[in-house]
Amino acid sequence: MFRFSRRSSITGIAVLAAAVLNQIFLIEPKPVRAAASKRSMTVEARRFFDQGKAQFAAKQYKEAQASFEKACRISSRSDSAQYYLGMAALYAGNNKLFIDCMTKVVVMNKLKNSIIAKNALVNILKYSRLHPYCALNSQEQLCRWDTQRHPVLQICISQGLALPPEYQGKSLNINEIREFRRLFQTGTFARALVREPTFKSYQAQNAVSALRKWDWAAREGLFRYAFTNDPAKADILVLWTPRFRAGGEMEGLTNYFGTNKPGQGKVIIQLNTGGLSESKGNAYAQLMAAHEFGHAFGLGSHSPGADDIMTAKIYYDSNNAHSISENDKAVLRAVYNLEPDNPW
Ligand SMILES: [Zn+2]
Repeated sequence: MFRFSRRSSITGIAVLAAAVLNQIFLIEPKPVRAAASKRSMTVEARRFFDQGKAQFAAKQYKEAQASFEKACRISSRSDSAQYYLGMAALYAGNNKLFIDCMTKVVVMNKLKNSIIAKNALVNILKYSRLHPYCALNSQEQLCRWDTQRHPVLQICISQGLALPPEYQGKSLNINEIREFRRLFQTGTFARALVREPTFKSYQAQNAVSALRKWDWAAREGLFRYAFTNDPAKADILVLWTPRFRAGGEMEGLTNYFGTNKPGQGKVIIQLNTGGLSESKGNAYAQLMAAHEFGHAFGLGSHSPGADDIMTAKIYYDSNNAHSISENDKAVLRAVYNLEPDNPW
């Protein structure tokens, strides 16, 4: 979600928008319990972990690394297992693995709540130029597409379709999410959506260009996607709205319609057909849409880094429109290499 804010320009880069995450998640109690257990080690993982710690203490770092790797393969969401694997890798001379592990620790924790994540970030900043950030959503869950259930994500960038006017650009409450979830499941509703009259076809082209900014992730095999024209079949559906009602002037809004059945979620992105996007041009609109696709792929938080696509405040310079950064990439890679709390 983007919320517009005006600030005087100090450096010549205009502050055009501030973004505030407004993903709405409906998580049933069962996955929450499951999530808690995913974050602790299984008995088997603990055995490898203890073995690794003994090897680490004996300065047998390569052996320790192998043991911690086994622990992480079983319990990828364990902070301790990832952190120790990172430290063993560092001492064994494997810098890339060290950074990858520390990144995972940062990605799966709210920094302010986690001493281990703070330490991991300090390590990363000391040994690399990366500055990864948390990817948990507002319910503190790590959510992403289940690539087993969705070998090819179906993405529909609609030609101007919109939610019924009373729901356009609105932060939906829990009852509305339930209602829409039910409506979307039937298929009839999605196929009966009507075209927003303020939509222009170049805006869909901007959304396509925004999506293409994520093609590196497909090339790396994090997920695959294909276009569909059928909004009912879409896993990610892009709709349009001339206004946002969640407060302030916004550019985009991403809602997740969850279910307690893995692999059956649906993400709805609503993009602006007017206002800032139109006045600031295509590059700006693409940046905004790319940010929303970041949410749609599982980046559930905002980055504190001003140059990241997931920043809460987009600094836009028409001569140098920034795009997806190495930080954004590192975070998304980590997300797709960790077991999610709630797979979509
Ligand atoms: Zn956002």
